[in-house]
Amino acid sequence: MIKVCKFGGTSLADGTTMRRVAEILSADPTRRYVVVSAPGKRYGGDVKITDLLYECHRSVEKCGKAGEAFEKVKERFRGIAFELGLTFDVEALLARTEEEIEHERSEEFTASRGEYLMGRFMAAFLELPFVDACDIVRFSSGGKLDDGKSFALTAAALKGKKGAVVPGFYGADRTGRIHTFTRGGSDVSGAIVARAVGADLYENWTDVSGFLACDPRIVDDPAHIRSLSYKELRELSYMGANVLHSESIFPVREADIPIRIKNTFRPEEAGTDILPMSRYRYDGRIVTGIAGKKNFAVVYVEKSLMNSEIGFARRILSVLERYHVSFEHMPSGIDTISFVIDEEQLKGGTLEKITEDIKAAVRPDQLRVFDDIALIAVVGHGMSRNVGTSARLFDAIARAGVNVRMIDQGSSELNIIVGVDNENYERTVRAVYEEFFR
Ligand code: ADP
Ligand code: ASP
Ligand code: MG
Repeated sequence: MIKVCKFGGTSLADGTTMRRVAEILSADPTRRYVVVSAPGKRYGGDVKITDLLYECHRSVEKCGKAGEAFEKVKERFRGIAFELGLTFDVEALLARTEEEIEHERSEEFTASRGEYLMGRFMAAFLELPFVDACDIVRFSSGGKLDDGKSFALTAAALKGKKGAVVPGFYGADRTGRIHTFTRGGSDVSGAIVARAVGADLYENWTDVSGFLACDPRIVDDPAHIRSLSYKELRELSYMGANVLHSESIFPVREADIPIRIKNTFRPEEAGTDILPMSRYRYDGRIVTGIAGKKNFAVVYVEKSLMNSEIGFARRILSVLERYHVSFEHMPSGIDTISFVIDEEQLKGGTLEKITEDIKAAVRPDQLRVFDDIALIAVVGHGMSRNVGTSARLFDAIARAGVNVRMIDQGSSELNIIVGVDNENYERTVRAVYEEFFR
């Protein structure tokens, strides 16, 4: 039995939490490979090391020096070394890291140093070998994870080691330059290690006892989800339930390795299991979870007999492609098609250019843009098994007095996506939660 354990930032915020981590590891000798994040917040209002490092980079850009922000980083790590009684030359490591940050002048290199330093500290504390992610996690030139290479390099580096500490969040491209995942990416690193060593379980240790049915900042004390499928996880995490990075399932999926979310501060609690369909047991629930995100624009195109015009959608898509704009959803009707796009991508005049080009490309009867739209994903394998789910959903939203601006139901019937005005987002989530969970 082999378990890979990834610990998030709050689990590694200071020496005290790191001692807890050591206890968790020693309680189970099958917990052999450890993947670490950078130190996170110790208390509300504290700053994550990774955020300080992005600030360091801005300072290097401006004046060549890592500056005040790196002083804070050093203080945090000195505190940890002191609390844990680490005896290696911490000052030399911090000084060398500062020099490298100022010399490299790369945002991704700088951001990765939180995980690198935590990896070095944790390895020293646990007396385990340190295996640097830049030697085992490989990105292709386009910045995409080269999973085949990464699995092979990681497996080779860990072969024969009873245990090891690997820093999360980064790897390197073919030329050795450091590349990071998007924020929260140590979850993906943990999944790569789990896959490479053929783990039986990937434990992801964080500060909550698993996945909740919706964001606890919107609904008080939401229901706990005991297990969910890879697919449900992907839908929920992509749509904002950021307990786990939405790309974490890709490395483990083909090997059917389950993921277990566990709470470092309550290790006795069961947590949440994320399972391949082959092990997933349907427990009768209709909706598994609700997640959502704000700030989308819907570009709505209407043209009579659109469906019989060959290449209609392709012409619109090639406009989006020309401006490097991706879309999240594409609901369509007989004479209408809409594109749901993250507003971030439409700034600086891009929206205006796109709408002009779409008009020229397909000569629509009508083209309208709805902005400040929030998307809410209602997710669960149970929805397709239960007649009348959408009726209940839309009835609940109507009773809350919210106008639905867009609907998209994927053909898998795993989710229904509802678009509402940003200002109605929280109210809608609460109404849907009340309907299916209370
Ligand atoms: P870590 O630093 O351990 O990686 P994260 O901050 O990335 O932890 O993820 C855990 C946090 O995710 C929780 O503290 C919680 O605030 C937040 N969260 C958002 N949506 C959910 C949800 N549906 N269930 C549980 N936690 C959620
Ligand atoms: N430290 C990185 C972040 O804050 C990666 C991670 O924690 O997973 O995003
Ligand atoms: Mg995280």
